[in-house]
Amino acid sequence: MTNVRLEDIKRRFNNVTAIEDISFEIPDGEFWVLVGPSGCGKSTILRTIAGLETATSGNLFIGDRLMNNIPARQRDVAMVFQNYALYPHMTVAQNIAFGLQMRKVDAKIIQERVINVARSLSLEHLLDRKPKQLSGGQQQRVALGRAIARQPQVFLLDEPLSNLDAQLRDDTRAELKQLHQNLAITTIYVTHDQVEAMTLADKIVVLNRGRIQQIGDPQSIYALP
Ligand code: ADP
Ligand code: ADP
Repeated sequence: MTNVRLEDIKRRFNNVTAIEDISFEIPDGEFWVLVGPSGCGKSTILRTIAGLETATSGNLFIGDRLMNNIPARQRDVAMVFQNYALYPHMTVAQNIAFGLQMRKVDAKIIQERVINVARSLSLEHLLDRKPKQLSGGQQQRVALGRAIARQPQVFLLDEPLSNLDAQLRDDTRAELKQLHQNLAITTIYVTHDQVEAMTLADKIVVLNRGRIQQIGDPQSIYALP
């Protein structure tokens, strides 16, 4: 089981407290969304889970395992950022396959995963193209595919759609939802966009000034008075 549990996580940078009193537990396979104004600590929480940041205090568990001192490369966590960085000299298929090849996964399994991921993200017809032959939306879908292909325990996304125009954002959001329904990987997603939070989230965590203001399902968070 890959539930993710944060217990009283705090992170200070010199005299600035970026996050504090951060506690929640995400059940295995759920999709949680972090929202809140710029600077409220969303990225710091994701980076702490990924192991790119070390908490000043508190505990992080993935499944039953205490992760506090486990380096990023030993965590079974994949992260996608706003600025997808694909390998420009590789094809779409090679980009998606890359993490699996690094892990010496069997070639036949890689082939199957590449095809499955490409199918869920509508990339089948683009497998032999290079990134520069793709639109921004297609490139971001490849970045999602590359992250998800190795079937991480935890999937972290930091505003992955914010560089896309409105139509592409809608399409990619729908594909992401489909992908999550197919794979059921425990997912944490940061966004400013209320529509994204409403349509994707099992639960929404509202942050303000480094603290949790509210945790609830989308209906309760965005309920009209
Ligand atoms: P968000 O992702 O919600 O915009 P961040 O997690 O990036 O917020 O930042 C939370 C707070 O921590 C902000 O006040 C930010 O300035 C501060 N912060 C983040 N990273 C660093 C850092 N490396 N050094 C100093 N302060 C930082
Ligand atoms: P390499 O030469 O680095 O092995 P390949 O171009 O053979 O890279 O492709 C990397 C992976 O992607 C391989 O596992 C391959 O099976 C798969 N792959 C490549 N092209 C396609 C394609 N058009 N359709 C499906 N899978 C593909």
